[in-house]
Amino acid sequence: MQQLLGNDVAVVGGGPAGLLAAQRLAEAGCRVHLYEAQATVGRKFLVAGHGGFNLSNAEDATAFSARYAARRADFTGFLSHFSPTDLRAWAADLGIATFVGTSGRVFPEARHKPADLLRAWVARLQRLGVQLHVRHRWLGFGPGGALHLRNEATGEQTTVRPAAALLALGGASWAKTGSDGAWRPELERIGVPVVPFAASNCGAEVAWSEFFRAKVGRQPLKNVAFSCGPATVRGEIMLTDYGLEGTPVYALTPQLRARLAAGGPATLHLHLKPDLSPAQLLEKLARRKTGKSVASFLQEALRLGPPVPTLLRELGPATFPATAAEAAALLSALPIPVTSLRPLDEAISTAGGVAWEALDEHLMLRARPGTFVAGEMLDWEAPTGGYLLQGCFSTGAWAARGLLQWLAANG
Ligand SMILES: Cc1cc2nc3c(=O)[nH]c(=O)nc-3n(C[C@H](O)[C@H](O)[C@H](O)COP(=O)(O)OP(=O)(O)OC[C@H]3O[C@@H](n4cnc5c(N)ncnc54)[C@H](O)[C@@H]3O)c2cc1C
Repeated sequence: MQQLLGNDVAVVGGGPAGLLAAQRLAEAGCRVHLYEAQATVGRKFLVAGHGGFNLSNAEDATAFSARYAARRADFTGFLSHFSPTDLRAWAADLGIATFVGTSGRVFPEARHKPADLLRAWVARLQRLGVQLHVRHRWLGFGPGGALHLRNEATGEQTTVRPAAALLALGGASWAKTGSDGAWRPELERIGVPVVPFAASNCGAEVAWSEFFRAKVGRQPLKNVAFSCGPATVRGEIMLTDYGLEGTPVYALTPQLRARLAAGGPATLHLHLKPDLSPAQLLEKLARRKTGKSVASFLQEALRLGPPVPTLLRELGPATFPATAAEAAALLSALPIPVTSLRPLDEAISTAGGVAWEALDEHLMLRARPGTFVAGEMLDWEAPTGGYLLQGCFSTGAWAARGLLQWLAANG
């Protein structure tokens, strides 16, 4: 079945990038059709909600853009078009008040559940006239701007021909939410280069001994710092039977990935007392008296209780260093050899995606004028802390702007 959508526009993918793009397009006066493969929109958005729902960050604009590393310059533009302040105003407009936590992270107030935000958002889209076509999977491109779709409930296939289209199909992790990366071959078929997907913001695997696994199991390590090369990140991690999870490890996945890909050692260095200066650490370690066990000395002098002694036994020298200087060196840079990253499907986000050279400055596919791309399906990565959702919102708003300009220029 062939359907001409006339001047209507199509957004494919009902995650935060696609939903925001649809809202901006409808507010600008477009008739919008949003196609989503799943039975409901925003599934990964709700998953993000269960893990703390960190919408953005109050960091200053320069530091914020730097979070996008190699894409810093592009994101400076996207973020100035739809900034963290705009995001908070957008949420407030939907009746969702936000606050800035002590770490600078922006969250909805506790009384607002993630589903409340999504419900208010979908209701707003419907009031704006956006037509939501759930259970409609995009299968690929047809000639002259056509999009092939399949109704997942009936199996019926249709071809629609909108005036312009915006794809926001997500990355390739948490496939059960719909972000399965299955769009890749179809983009490659029309000549769009796609950088291979890789896990970002994910746990790291460590080949613990059986003894360590049995004794430590799953335990947190609070207020520590991890380094990988020159990059250092502080926070709390979880020791698990397969390795490490937690914000500092997630933030260092780009460095670990690069080292693993180069075949070299991918070593994290753990600082167990990052709040102490080197002199303070040395001074505390110098108080050690003979006769006391290492475990009770570390507990008394440095409040390093379990699982630290087991961790030192697992990764450190056979006997605890005899001198304070050697002990300080060990406690401030305990090497942890990482064997691999956790599987992509478990990752919080995806590195890789539509290559930047495939796009013009409006996020339009060069290979397919009138088709724009936004969100995590683009090749960028950023740490957790609100930078992921903000990046999806900002690229969604930017691509919508590009699409409107393109429509204006092309009748
Ligand atoms: C556990 C977890 C916790 C997270 N926590 C946070 C957080 O606190 N803060 C933060 O900033 N970020 C967080 N994120 C990341 C954030 O959720 C994602 O970056 C964001 O959802 C990506 O938005 P998107 O719109 O680009 O893609 P998605 O949200 O993945 O949406 C893409 C949509 O496209 C649909 N789709 C895919 N293929 C097709 C097709 N062929 N046809 C039609 N529809 C299709 C999918 O079903 C999906 O609904 C978290 C992620 C996870 C997994």
